Amino acid sequence: MIKRSFIGLTKPMLKYEVLDAKTPEPVIIQEPKKVSLFLDETFGFKDSILLKIGDKVKTGQKLSLSENSDAYVISTVTGKISSIETLLGDYGKTFTSVSIDVDDNEEIDDQFKTLAPEPTLDIANNFLSGVPGKPSFKIFSDPEKAINTIIVNGTDRDLLVATNQYVVKSDIRAVKSGVRILKKITGINDILIAVPQNLTQDAISSGAQVTPVDSEYPATLPAMMMQSLLGQILPVGQSCEDMGVFFLSAEAVASIGRAFEEGRIPSTKTVTFVNKDGVKSLVSAKIGTPVRDILNTFGVTLNEKDRLIIGGPMTGASIYSEDFPVLADTDAITVQDRDNIPIVSDYPCINCGECVRACPANIPVNMLVRFLEAGQYEEAADQYDLYSCIECGLCSYVCVSKMPVFHYIKLAKYELGRTTTAEATNA
Ligand code: SF4
Ligand code: SF4
Repeated sequence: MIKRSFIGLTKPMLKYEVLDAKTPEPVIIQEPKKVSLFLDETFGFKDSILLKIGDKVKTGQKLSLSENSDAYVISTVTGKISSIETLLGDYGKTFTSVSIDVDDNEEIDDQFKTLAPEPTLDIANNFLSGVPGKPSFKIFSDPEKAINTIIVNGTDRDLLVATNQYVVKSDIRAVKSGVRILKKITGINDILIAVPQNLTQDAISSGAQVTPVDSEYPATLPAMMMQSLLGQILPVGQSCEDMGVFFLSAEAVASIGRAFEEGRIPSTKTVTFVNKDGVKSLVSAKIGTPVRDILNTFGVTLNEKDRLIIGGPMTGASIYSEDFPVLADTDAITVQDRDNIPIVSDYPCINCGECVRACPANIPVNMLVRFLEAGQYEEAADQYDLYSCIECGLCSYVCVSKMPVFHYIKLAKYELGRTTTAEATNA
């Protein structure tokens, strides 16, 4: 493998959305008639299933498929389970969707409430992995990752998105509680909060060390912040966690704070909604709400070939059904009119070098793409720096031939990851 670290940031070209004082409050999406909750586990072992169609569930109830499973989801509503099915996601990933028909009378499961007065890492791990912002807690007990620094990300990772900035602006008290609880349950005192320059005053009362971040894309991606905030350059193939640094979104930290303070698991997600005309709005929706409900609230009709994207314009992924739900980590939903969708072509690479000039990781993308197109993923990793890619999407954005370079890269990483897992399992 190449031993070159990424460094030498090419001048970024695009500016992030900056939340200003005039940003309106989020539009509240009405409680849906049905929610769909996703479990990171495949449904299939009928004997061990703890959930059945027709089961009644309460708001805040923990749902798992089997006794031995670590995977769980917290019901965001009270109602009856109406379906349990395996779904196929991007790049062959499978998960289980549990749909619940919502009852008018809400009942609250109080298992978490009884534990909340004495916060621990175990309680957080057992109840809060699916709160808005989707924090992960397992990393803190992984002996191979000695986490010593937490960065609370009060910026947004993609263009046009303002979700985490809104949390910093509107709910810094909850962020402060979350920072205090994280210090207590992890024993880590080195907690920073990264925010755009205009939010530094808002962030001061968070109890974390405030660090401003540039407004030029892709400055808010974790690998870039490792370099700009901590002066650390990620070695090829290493993650931030390998270097002892863990990122949590501001929304995740606020959710942790609110959960332990109020004894109730938060279930309402803030999402940036970008309409066909590019107009952005913040919305507040229950996790599990179908995207259709948000489109209806804004009077959006999808025409043939319009595109629905979960995420922002640079790194978002298309979805193919309006029934797809708001998930714990859905920061943005973008609707693109068919006439405004960037064209993807099957023209060959003309070796213009635009992608190389744009790449913040200084990868020879023009060479890399040749191996990716041919499905030679190991060669791409060994000879052309695949694992230095920080997944910013700038190469696709600037590609003169409109090649889907970024998608080739994601597919290659996924396929190599699968091979590594299969080899480890068979070893
Ligand atoms: S997505 Fe493209 S431009 Fe961005 S780091 Fe990866 S190769 Fe470079
Ligand atoms: S920008 Fe596109 S056409 Fe130009 S070198 Fe890169 S991959 Fe090839």
